[in-house]
Amino acid sequence: MAPMSGFERGRIMSKFADLIEQNIEELAALDSVDAGKLLASGKTVDIPHCLHILRYYAGAADKIHGETLKLAGEYQGYTLLEPIGVVGHIIPWNYPSTMFLMKSSPALAAGCTMVIKPAEQTPLSALFYAHLAKQAGIPDGVINVVNGFGPTAGAALCSHMNVDAISFTGSTETGRLVMEAAAKSNLKTVSLELGGKSPLIIFDDADVDMAVALARIAIFYNKASPLRPTFASFDPGEICVAGSRVYVQEGIYDEFVRKAAESAKSWVVGDPFDPNVQQGPQVDKTQFERVLSYIELGKTEGATLLTGGTRCGDKGYYIEPTIFTDVKEEMRIAQEEIFGPVMSLMKFKTIEEAIEKANATRYGLAAGIVTKDLNTANRVTRSVRAGTIWINCYFAFDPGCPFGGYKMSGFGRDLGMHAINKYLQVKSVVTPLHSSPWL
Ligand code: NAD
Repeated sequence: MAPMSGFERGRIMSKFADLIEQNIEELAALDSVDAGKLLASGKTVDIPHCLHILRYYAGAADKIHGETLKLAGEYQGYTLLEPIGVVGHIIPWNYPSTMFLMKSSPALAAGCTMVIKPAEQTPLSALFYAHLAKQAGIPDGVINVVNGFGPTAGAALCSHMNVDAISFTGSTETGRLVMEAAAKSNLKTVSLELGGKSPLIIFDDADVDMAVALARIAIFYNKASPLRPTFASFDPGEICVAGSRVYVQEGIYDEFVRKAAESAKSWVVGDPFDPNVQQGPQVDKTQFERVLSYIELGKTEGATLLTGGTRCGDKGYYIEPTIFTDVKEEMRIAQEEIFGPVMSLMKFKTIEEAIEKANATRYGLAAGIVTKDLNTANRVTRSVRAGTIWINCYFAFDPGCPFGGYKMSGFGRDLGMHAINKYLQVKSVVTPLHSSPWL
């Protein structure tokens, strides 16, 4: 793609988007089969969002340019923005389609070639996307999909001397290994989108019913909600930005607890192909057992199990929407990423206390604030260390909005024009203003 004009790259990317749109049903079904994602949500939310991302970067492909530089003395300069080269994209299983397009689209716009390694749990849709890319006219060798396991295929990519950059999304633990491998090989650039333990802070002035609906979206999701997010799927808590720590101010705490329990109990869990189902299964047995073990841990740590807490039925990896109250900051269920439908509810008195508690984690991916008070919203926004803040909404994603983490949630940004910079090198060119004295 590098020798093509940006306009031509954008044209082919638009064609790729059209082909994805024509095959939306099949692509959504592949993600349902692989990851247990709800088919309805794949067709109406996830893949339309992927199209939005791809078309955003198709439009950006011919708007990538350097700058002219006014230099001291008798020189002039300019910068060239060049593709960084071969990019390794390593992605997780929770959003196979979104991750594929979120990583590949800005890299294509930048003119890079890439090797994409999907998660071992979700190999299928990536192969179909690569097939459609070829049909759209993306030249052979530009998008390469290598399915395989992390410690072999993923690690090989990270330590390969001919890979120029790794864009990784996954757990914080694996992110550390990715950085180590890059450091020990060719010092390739690395960007890491890692785990989270995001706080949702609900103040006394909130409408309690709306706040409960939002908290439910933030951890369990809800299509029927009046606060329907622009980007969401109905995965049981399997999302890095899940609002897994919910802080409720003391004046509305008791009412919130009661209504949150009622809301969670009404949740429909079941077959991802059933359009009436609101929450599908966990992705696999390992994840299922991991979530249940965290629920056991919460009980032994002394938190109160308000609702849920067990598997649904006796087949498949379905887990009841689960809410703990009386959770303390130091408990592991309040500190570690569970990646499942488990909400920890905590009470706070003052704004200072809310900020302190929200920041009391090694993660900094996202946070939500619910209040009618603009001063409160502004103060919390500026004090919480997280890459995305949602005020009176949650999961409001847009391709134009950069996404990434603070602290151990990683560094570098996906989405927005920032993401293109990850895939570009900056070359400075300097030349004398008049004839060169060296000629
Ligand atoms: P994971 O870290 O186990 O795996 C992610 C990817 O890394 C997979 O493709 C895996 O095969 C690969 N991998 C594993 N070991 C590797 C190694 N040694 N070298 C190179 N690659 C290796 O994570 P997961 O369980 O698949 O996904 C869940 C995690 O992803 C959660 O922590 C979640 O928060 C995070 N996540 C983050 C974001 C974000 O944007 N910040 C988005 C989605 C998921």
